[in-house]
Amino acid sequence: EADVPRPVLDVIARLHELGHAVFLVGGCVRDTLRGVHPKDFDVATSALPEEVQRAFRKVIPTGIQHGTVTVVQGSTHVEVTTFRSEGDYHDGRRPSAVTFEQDIVKDLSRRDFTINAMAWNPLTHELADPFGGQQDLKARVVRCVGSAVERFSEDGLRPMRAVRFAAVLDFTLDPGTQAAIPETLPVFRKVAHERVREEFVKLLLSKREAFGLELLATTGLLDVFLPELARADAEAARLARTAAAAEPVDVEIRLAALLADLVTPQQAEEIGVRLKFPTKTIERVKLLISHAALERHVADSDPALRRLLAKVGLANVEALTSVARARIQARDPSRLPEMDALIGRLHGLAVSKPPLSAKELALNGGAIMATLGVGPSPIVGEATRFLLERVLDEPSLNEAETLKEMVLSWRQSRGS
Ligand code: ATP
Ligand code: MG
Repeated sequence: EADVPRPVLDVIARLHELGHAVFLVGGCVRDTLRGVHPKDFDVATSALPEEVQRAFRKVIPTGIQHGTVTVVQGSTHVEVTTFRSEGDYHDGRRPSAVTFEQDIVKDLSRRDFTINAMAWNPLTHELADPFGGQQDLKARVVRCVGSAVERFSEDGLRPMRAVRFAAVLDFTLDPGTQAAIPETLPVFRKVAHERVREEFVKLLLSKREAFGLELLATTGLLDVFLPELARADAEAARLARTAAAAEPVDVEIRLAALLADLVTPQQAEEIGVRLKFPTKTIERVKLLISHAALERHVADSDPALRRLLAKVGLANVEALTSVARARIQARDPSRLPEMDALIGRLHGLAVSKPPLSAKELALNGGAIMATLGVGPSPIVGEATRFLLERVLDEPSLNEAETLKEMVLSWRQSRGS
């Protein structure tokens, strides 16, 4: 069976002892049944939130209105949620009210998919599976609990979650569940962009991201939040999806690989802002997209490649080469050897940590002023730029004495 962490078992045992019904629910049951160690263990119980609070020494009232209490067991936090059903949904976003329930089946029936609607008690070994979750797990199918059109109309995020789970688990969508997505797109349109983005990121980071992206396109979801990709011609979209498999698995790398040949850096920024990505992510994706067509550098000299490194920043070289490689692999695999040779040269230059900016020059502004016998003046900036260009050409020149001589003859040659 599963190795449920001790603190979680202790919480379940205590609630059981007090006479309450108590189960592990949701993702941890699904993952345990398919032989994957769960990320986290969610506990559901018939005990009311106040009863849960009273049953343990240390608790945090995380979301009492929704019935969630966090039980602190040493360094482990265990989320315990009272069985609940949800009242009417307002405008496809959030339920207007929750009702606490005594029956686990009521709690399971509000959940999104059959594979997420199972409950298991690791002490009594009781498994509650009222909607055929085990069967769908075996058939590798994502299927709504009850009517898909109704469930997608209650919460517009669910269609996005359906596709996300299909991509993450390498499952397919049940035909009825898939057919309900185009029908309920008006509800999906109302969902807050950050909730859509969270699911989109999980899909993008999954093993079957190309399949997930295709499913987003065929169901119409993509057109709602990423029309730039949804409206690209079929071949461009296919290449973008293929490139999105970029490794290592990282949001910025995968987003940049997906978008590099579809949008400008400016449009990438608009997409990032629209989906409320963090500014840091948006900036990095823009930078990666700006330089993604690395193949145009294959014949560059070392000095030209150092200038490229100066623009990209050493910290971004790994990510940039991943994006560039994934693009070429998708578009023209015959060019992979020359791309790999270029990547090898870039990494070789990067590991030698060449001076790439004015602040890495062996002669700083003060030393330049002293050498030239001047105070702060525009000539200091000009001299700095001159020295940096020479050092980018030839890093071994970056020695204080050498740069002093160079800056003196530079002044002489310009006759000032
Ligand atoms: P993951 O491994 O990605 O965290 P998970 O199944 O734990 O998968 P969560 O988003 O953490 O997914 O949600 C926990 C559980 O809550 C789900 O398994 C499902 O039963 C229920 N759930 C979450 N979001 C919804 C929703 N929008 N509608 C209905 N039920 C939901
Ligand atoms: Mg979870």
